[in-house]
Amino acid sequence: MPARNILVINCGSSSIKFALVNEAHSQFSLSGLAERLGSPDAVLHWQRGGEKDSLMIPGADHRAALSQLLPLVQGAAGGKLHGIGHRVVHGGERFTQAQRVDTSVLAAIRDTAPLAPLHNPANLQGIEAALKLFADLPQVVVFDTAFHQTLPEHAYRYALPEVLYREHGVRRYGFHGTSHRFVSHRAAQMSELSVGDSSWLSAHLGNGCSTCAIVDGQSRDTSMGLTPLEGLVMGTRSGDVDPNLHSHLARTLGWDLAQIDRMLNQDAGLLGLSGLSNDMRSLEQAREQGHAGATLAIEVFCYRLAKSLAAMSCALPRLDGLIFTGGIGENSPLIRSKTVAHLRLLGLALDKEANARCIRGVAGSIQAQGHPRVLVVPTNEERQIALDTLALL
Ligand code: AMP
Repeated sequence: MPARNILVINCGSSSIKFALVNEAHSQFSLSGLAERLGSPDAVLHWQRGGEKDSLMIPGADHRAALSQLLPLVQGAAGGKLHGIGHRVVHGGERFTQAQRVDTSVLAAIRDTAPLAPLHNPANLQGIEAALKLFADLPQVVVFDTAFHQTLPEHAYRYALPEVLYREHGVRRYGFHGTSHRFVSHRAAQMSELSVGDSSWLSAHLGNGCSTCAIVDGQSRDTSMGLTPLEGLVMGTRSGDVDPNLHSHLARTLGWDLAQIDRMLNQDAGLLGLSGLSNDMRSLEQAREQGHAGATLAIEVFCYRLAKSLAAMSCALPRLDGLIFTGGIGENSPLIRSKTVAHLRLLGLALDKEANARCIRGVAGSIQAQGHPRVLVVPTNEERQIALDTLALL
């Protein structure tokens, strides 16, 4: 059978990220982004081989952008597209794995919208547009939450009145599941361990950040919760704060919920702490030049990350390794070394040269000799979504 092609789509409220994945090749045949959809400045950017191109698509909505994409995809796939994989943020408790799209799956994603009001409706828009444009192709949805449906109840329940869980679904769900699953499988391969008998701490550090404890191929705990705001310091998200902060700000500053929400999600995290940027590269450069805010943001980021990893270790029977992934995890020797320095009690220590070498897509072990394994593993959520899609065809 010739190698098959899957188009992977990730729809935001005004954007579509896409990648054409061929099962035989590690590089994408085509990838890109349509952004500012619904506005006069809507634009489609794509990359094929080494070549980059873009096209203004003024006023285009999701469907119009996908129809512009169609000929590009058909060209790059040589006319042989086998299916479409959609990333969906929230699958609630209903979805523990990827699903073929049908009317009941669409209804369930719609029903889950109160848990992810910004993301699920946008994901649905993309699926519905793709169903109209690619009516003959099988389509699959892959949920960010599904991998974490194996959390034990003591890890996913909040200490809140039970009715909030039973009747309103208030519990910890976790996100980034596709990435934690992908890198833990790669880590087992790299270490010549069986996925079904391995035990990992994983740190996905991108614009959003989360940790995960993975035992025998299953998620046992993770730092994100009901929403992706819980847990670590992120680009613009605060991560954990005292829940009384809400009433404190309302009482003392008169802020309403929308203001507090906006601050915690968009103005906090690395950006809020540094007063400079949500981008770790910029913060590392500013720190070099003595910028106090950038220095503090990096210190808080690493300390909080280490604390979360230490907490996650409670879910492991033993430690086969710590995995760093995501834009920061894959590219920042500084963040890795500062984080690991806080984890002496887990016996972790890095080899300086190996740590410096693993950047820009280079995977490898970076622990000092005789210390527990620490791995840098580039994530590839699009590939994992394509593999899940292929498995259901
Ligand atoms: P992601 O969301 O996975 O694309 O990751 C985005 C984050 O990775 C941003 O904070 C980037 O600044 C960060 N990042 C990318 N490259 C580097 C690098 N060379 N050093 C430090 N951070 C980086």
